Amino acid sequence: MKNKIKKGILSTLIENQVIKRSLEYSQEKFDHIKLYLNPSQDFMCARKAYFNLNHPRNFQKNTINAKDFTFEEEFAKEQGNDVHRFLQQVFVDSNISILNEFTLEDEDLKIRARFDSIVEINKQLYLVEIKSVKERVMEYIMNNGNSDMEHVKQIHIYFLLIDKNKDREPLKSILNGKKVDNAILLYVNKNNQSLLEFAVRKNNTMINDLKQYVKSVWDHYNQKNIPELQFQANSPECLYRCQYYDKCHPKHIKATVKLSDRDVWGSSVASQMFDSPRWG
Ligand code: SF4
Repeated sequence: MKNKIKKGILSTLIENQVIKRSLEYSQEKFDHIKLYLNPSQDFMCARKAYFNLNHPRNFQKNTINAKDFTFEEEFAKEQGNDVHRFLQQVFVDSNISILNEFTLEDEDLKIRARFDSIVEINKQLYLVEIKSVKERVMEYIMNNGNSDMEHVKQIHIYFLLIDKNKDREPLKSILNGKKVDNAILLYVNKNNQSLLEFAVRKNNTMINDLKQYVKSVWDHYNQKNIPELQFQANSPECLYRCQYYDKCHPKHIKATVKLSDRDVWGSSVASQMFDSPRWG
C-alpha cells in the first residue's frame, strides 16, 4: 500500500511564516521606495524595464499582497543569500576581501545597485559577482561555453557606478586611486557546490551602450510610451525570464512550449537569478 504524503502542520507553519516575512519586508521597503533601475531586473529588455517601473507595487503599498510570493522562490532566495554570505566570509578569511555588499546609486541615470564583493588578488582589484544556480543552469552555461550576457551587463553597470562614486567614502579610501576594471563572475552549482568562473574585463563600448539604453528607458517612461516589442514569443528572454509574457504575446499560450525547452531556466532557482518565471 502506498503511503500518502500529506503536508504536515510544521511545513504549513514554515511556508506561511516565510511568506508573511517576505510580505512584511516588501511593505516596509515600500516606504523608502524611489524609482530606480535595477541591474538584475531592468537591463535585458527595455519593455520589461518600462513595465517594472510602472508596476502598481511602486505606487500603492496595498497592492503588495501574499499572492505575490511563493514559498519556493523565497526559500531559494534565502539559500542564495547563504551562499553569498559564506563565500564573502571565505574572502575575508583569505585576506583578499576589500569590500562586501555595497549599495551604489546614481542620481543622474537613476540606477541603484548592490554589488557582492571587491577583492584584491596579486595586487589586482576584482569585482566579484556571485551567481548561485541549479545544476541544469550550470550545464546550460557550460554547454554554451560562455557566461550569460545579462550577467556581463550587470557587471558593467557596477563598473560604471563604482567609477562614478570613486570619490565617495568608503570607496575613496578603499580604492586609494586604484581602478576596478576587472571582474570575476563566479557561478556556484547549488546541487554539488562546484564552481565555475569567468573573467570579465571592462569594455567601454558596452558601458556607453548601457548609458544609451538607460536614457532610452527613462525617455519612454517620462513620455508614457511603451517600448517596441524586443523579442519574439519563442525567445528564451520572453519564455523563461519575464513575467510580462502575456502582455507582450497574448496570442501565444504556454501549452505550446515544450516542457524540455522551458526546463532549463524555469526553476525557482533560475527565478532567483533572473526574475519570476512564468511557470512556478
Ligand atoms: S515578454 Fe519579452 S518583449 Fe515582453 S517585456 Fe518580457 S522580455 Fe520584453
